[in-house]
Amino acid sequence: MTSQDTPFPNSPVMPEMFEGGKVIRFQCRKGIGCWNQCCSNIDISLTPYDILRLKNRLGVSSTKFLADYTVPYEMEKDGIAGVKMRPVDGGTACRFMKPEGCDVYSDRPTACRYYPVALLSMRKQDEYVDQDRYALVQEEHCLGHQEPRELTVAEYRREQGLEDYDELARGWRQLVLKKKSSGPTIGKPSIKSRQLFFMACYDIDRFRAFFESEAFTGLFALPEEETRQLLADETALLQFAFRFLRQVLFGEMTIPLQEGAAAVRREKVKEKALQQEREAAEKLAQAEDGEVPDDD
Ligand code: SF4
Ligand code: SF4
Repeated sequence: MTSQDTPFPNSPVMPEMFEGGKVIRFQCRKGIGCWNQCCSNIDISLTPYDILRLKNRLGVSSTKFLADYTVPYEMEKDGIAGVKMRPVDGGTACRFMKPEGCDVYSDRPTACRYYPVALLSMRKQDEYVDQDRYALVQEEHCLGHQEPRELTVAEYRREQGLEDYDELARGWRQLVLKKKSSGPTIGKPSIKSRQLFFMACYDIDRFRAFFESEAFTGLFALPEEETRQLLADETALLQFAFRFLRQVLFGEMTIPLQEGAAAVRREKVKEKALQQEREAAEKLAQAEDGEVPDDD
């Protein structure tokens, strides 16, 4: 592999991508000389499932968790919203770092579980299914690479509880990859679709309120039993949120619409387009008459 293949040039991510069978040498353990160094300077992106686990661990709503513990960011130039952990005020350390270790260990985020392995999800232009590849992150301060333990990446993932975490974030990763690979053909998403993406992926409590509201039930005709099951199971509701986004953002029609709702929606879109045409024509007429058009 050449240096151009390096997934992250000038970073501690090694320039070799591999699959789950790759054997790595690594162990992190209490008492190691670098204890907590990795948690002292964080840059951790959260998956929707990470947020769900952490907000339940802390006993707060997703809305409050997002406000108090995270910062939003834009993933690359695609206009897709992402969420990162917010470090301690005025510092770089994780808010959950304690001298004895991670204070939320059994609910720690995916990125913390993976370290020092990096997950690189990839999707070919014409394929819907993503493929997982990995790379090794080798930072000087991390002495875990010198420990005498060898295991495959697949074994490491199992040990770290990543099989469930990855499975429950898969729908979100596919949405992100799908948007990235559609690139400029679809263009930067509108503010409304970005807000919808943010709510459905990261703010599950607000999504639940939306799911129960007239705005949702007036448009979608979900069977009662399914609605009840989704309201009783937050993890299932999160998976449904991804399905909802696939429908509203990419037109994958899997959620039945209320009778007549589709026609009403089409009418509204038509009316909006006509209104825009009327406004454009008025502005043109004003410009031809030498008037300065209102800039709204
Ligand atoms: S959540 Fe836990 S493991 Fe992850 S950076 Fe914070 S203290 Fe470290
Ligand atoms: S071995 Fe690596 S992962 Fe473990 S505490 Fe040290 S720096 Fe962190």
